[in-house]
Amino acid sequence: MTFTVAIIGRPNVGKSTLFNRLVGSKIAIVDDTPGVTRDRRPGEARIGDLHFTIIDTAGLEDADPDSLEGRMRAQTEMAIEEADVSLFLIDARVGVTPVDEHFAELLRRVGKPVVLVANKAEGKLGENGVMEAYSLGLGEPVALSAEHGEGMADLFAALLPFE
Ligand code: GDP
Ligand code: MG
Repeated sequence: MTFTVAIIGRPNVGKSTLFNRLVGSKIAIVDDTPGVTRDRRPGEARIGDLHFTIIDTAGLEDADPDSLEGRMRAQTEMAIEEADVSLFLIDARVGVTPVDEHFAELLRRVGKPVVLVANKAEGKLGENGVMEAYSLGLGEPVALSAEHGEGMADLFAALLPFE
């Protein structure tokens, strides 16, 4: 049986990098032309022998600041609704930002399962952000480096219950 995972988070936290790693293809980034990104992109993902459908959320290149929050919210809500579980990414190098807190609040309100992921956690720089992530109140963060492929075993373990 397969299940569906949505990748949620503010721009630049590494959502598409994780999507590409899990799908095993660079197509998503090549496709990621500013302004023409589709709102939700499903792909067939695999970690070890765990297979699932993954939805990357993007389409945030809209330069109009008045509409940015609205678009982020609408797109995020649609992806969360479609998914069995959301991977909520923050950037461990930056730590928790107000926009991250905004997403956390949205996820808590929707009430569906969330796996918190502190991405860009490789090396010393990521350590503070991983600890800060606990303050979001969404449980223990999975420390990940989507770019370097670190933490995939922990991500596997976090997603296994949804199979
Ligand atoms: P998105 O906007 O959330 O989809 O983020 P992207 O996947 O486009 O990544 C934004 C930037 O973060 C790119 O320059 C990536 O190379 C970089 N990035 C993604 N994952 C990692 C990571 O694990 N470590 C580091 N250091 N950089 C990363
Ligand atoms: Mg992206």
